[in-house]
Amino acid sequence: MQFKLKNILMSIHMRNITAFILLQFAVIPSTPQNSKDYTNAIFLNKLNKDTSYSTLKNRIISGFAQTKPGAWGESVPGVITRFNTQNKYIAFTFDACGGKNGIGYDIELIDFLHKEQIPATLFITGKWIDANFSTFLRLCRDTLFEIENHGLNHKPCSVDGKSIYGIPGTSNIAEAYDEIEANALKIKAIAKTSTHFYRSATAYIDEACVTMAGKMGVRVVGFQILSGDAVPFTPAPIIEENVIKKIKPGAIVIMHFNHPEWNTYEAMKNIVPNLRQMGYTFVRLNDALASPK
Ligand SMILES: [Zn+2]
Repeated sequence: MQFKLKNILMSIHMRNITAFILLQFAVIPSTPQNSKDYTNAIFLNKLNKDTSYSTLKNRIISGFAQTKPGAWGESVPGVITRFNTQNKYIAFTFDACGGKNGIGYDIELIDFLHKEQIPATLFITGKWIDANFSTFLRLCRDTLFEIENHGLNHKPCSVDGKSIYGIPGTSNIAEAYDEIEANALKIKAIAKTSTHFYRSATAYIDEACVTMAGKMGVRVVGFQILSGDAVPFTPAPIIEENVIKKIKPGAIVIMHFNHPEWNTYEAMKNIVPNLRQMGYTFVRLNDALASPK
């Protein structure tokens, strides 16, 4: 591996709860030269041989051994679906799922966001990075966007192997841990930026995984407005209507940038001027949700 991880593990005992705070310091080369070292299978294999990574992972596994999955869905307790604001601010979020769920790159959409100077949050999986390494590096350097975590292998986040839309979820707490933490470390190693938010694949997650993410210092994000762009070939006017009719201050809108054949870009060409006319301004999640309150 081209970098070393040094972790300082601290435990804080509060009543019967033990919270673990992991401070991670990644010593990484100035520019990643070999994308192969970061591919999911190689990266995860090496992480699991890292004592600090496996120590925290094992503590999480034993800490959640008796935890029931709880509710399963897109907006279970603890999932952020909107943000508080006195102003007409909304956050556009765009996912890149990877693998069978799409390794494409909607360059027209990204160029449009640039032309219109629309800040946005990009949730990206390890799988998509593997298929688009140089594009990912360019996006990481792009100050208009923030890069966040959409999971290592695009698996819905479950402690007991639930599936949704035919996509198998993580099968246990260990796999759920890797799905979140390994992708956060992968993005950090390549991009040299820390992620703060995690959106599970399909946005489905169980309550146990939300609690686990919280212990890892990760905030789970869903959405308030479903644009519907992910239903293949939804016409642009339908996507526009889904967003514009339901828009409200503090809304988090979910869309995708990994399917150029979908109508996301076509819809955004009308959504943006309409929302601007209605007085809306666009923000990134880190701007809207700066720190836990
Ligand atoms: Zn996805």
